[in-house]
Amino acid sequence: MAGMIEPIQRMVNALSSLPGIGAKSAQRLAYHIVSLPQDEVRELAAALWQGRKAIRYCAVCGNYTAGERCDICEQEERHNGQICVVRDPRDVAAMERMHEYRGLYHVLHGTLSPMDGVGPDDIRIRELLARLQDGTVTEVILATNPDIEGEATATYIARLIKPLGIRVTRIAHGVPVGADLEYADEVTLSKAMEGRREI
Ligand SMILES: [Zn+2]
Repeated sequence: MAGMIEPIQRMVNALSSLPGIGAKSAQRLAYHIVSLPQDEVRELAAALWQGRKAIRYCAVCGNYTAGERCDICEQEERHNGQICVVRDPRDVAAMERMHEYRGLYHVLHGTLSPMDGVGPDDIRIRELLARLQDGTVTEVILATNPDIEGEATATYIARLIKPLGIRVTRIAHGVPVGADLEYADEVTLSKAMEGRREI
């Protein structure tokens, strides 16, 4: 960009790689950061770096956690036989905001997308099937997004699970087609959950 010295330009480039940050916002942030005392910037960078370092996947469900198991898997009363399958940890957060679902989750970390070369072995389907082996799970709720990849993923997983004699349900289309679960409001999401049907 014209008139911008190189270190600021580098900050702008880095910031604009974040979701929702366009070139203008990135510039505003970069100039703001440059105007701050060095200590403040060091703390900001450290918070990002330490936060990132501390977070890993829950050994059970794949949600984000700072420990071995996430807060949800740690709660004994949530082991009620239900597992809700979602694409990523942001979807867990969206479902939890609804304050209605009381079971466990399984985070796939992606959806099937042959176009992008994402196959069954690239998302956590094997881990899901492993969780169904001990006979404690009675219902698997497929809550992937209602877009092409989300539907394809739900259908694929349902086909694998049904022969095991476990109830498989799909959330209703209260969530607008093509929309992200993450952005659905709590009412829409709880209606989608209520209206889930067997597939
Ligand atoms: Zn967990």
